[in-house]
Amino acid sequence: MSVSEITLPNRLARWRRLCLSSFVLAGITALVLWVAVVGLVRQGRLETVLSAGRAELAAPLLIALVVATGLCERIWPAERRPVLARGHVQDACYLALHAVVVIPLMTLLSVGAATLIGDHAGWIELRATEQWPGWLIVPLTIAAMDAANWLAHYADHRLDALWRFHALHHSQEELSVLTSFRAHPLMHTTGFLLATVPVVALMPTRPIAPVLITIYVCIGTLQHANLRWTFGPAGRVIVSPAYHRLHHAADNQAVNLGVVLTIWDVLARCARFPARGGDVGRTGLDGRPVPVEQAESPGPVLRLLAEQLIEPFGAPRSGLR
Ligand SMILES: [Zn+2]
Ligand SMILES: [Zn+2]
Repeated sequence: MSVSEITLPNRLARWRRLCLSSFVLAGITALVLWVAVVGLVRQGRLETVLSAGRAELAAPLLIALVVATGLCERIWPAERRPVLARGHVQDACYLALHAVVVIPLMTLLSVGAATLIGDHAGWIELRATEQWPGWLIVPLTIAAMDAANWLAHYADHRLDALWRFHALHHSQEELSVLTSFRAHPLMHTTGFLLATVPVVALMPTRPIAPVLITIYVCIGTLQHANLRWTFGPAGRVIVSPAYHRLHHAADNQAVNLGVVLTIWDVLARCARFPARGGDVGRTGLDGRPVPVEQAESPGPVLRLLAEQLIEPFGAPRSGLR
């Protein structure tokens, strides 16, 4: 028997322990980033664009919102827990990862997606919208972006290849405003590819004011707050912390997929509006298919962070559908 015959089954078994689709998504992400970096370096605009991205996605307004929401969570918590609860500490690490890695990644993904769409699907640019007034086209584009984000979120839940990355976000059993940043960096690729389509189509020559992007991000960040806020009547239209908490229910994540607007859930018949003063449900994922800090012996924070980030690349653990 030759050496290759002996080792082949072992090699196959090793490959079977890997998740091919996760490597494909990593490859697509690398391709989009490469397109963005090459184009920006050629134009000498790489640093300028990265700085503009930081200004939008780490704006003082967003930082102030996170701090203010953290204070509100101490005063009116939906679930009372220590400041240094394991979930808060772990999600603070994701906040650091977000600031250092994810913000430049998001900036380059949107540039790369716009470059690819412009180069290969320029026909989607609706030049007639150039004559439309700003008060009409800007809200329309942001609403279309939100619909694209809803679609990406829907795909995260429907397609196993994407769920492998999204499950980390849902694994948090102690929701707080910091959970907004608990996301695998590769979870953002489909969202940016889809959300760039309406921007290129509706506003091909006009940029959206950075402050509007910041406000959009702020509303999307507030939804994970450990608060019972339903936003009253406005909560029928805008995603509130209580509304999004229902999406994080441990036993059912099929409702309330909206990012900022609830209308897409209403149209898809998967909106469930929270009752004022209703029960605070259990969050996380039943069966803990992703390693979590609330486990019996989770190990050091940074090692767990690495395990959580590597998890989608291995064979699914039991409990991960
Ligand atoms: Zn989700
Ligand atoms: Zn969430």
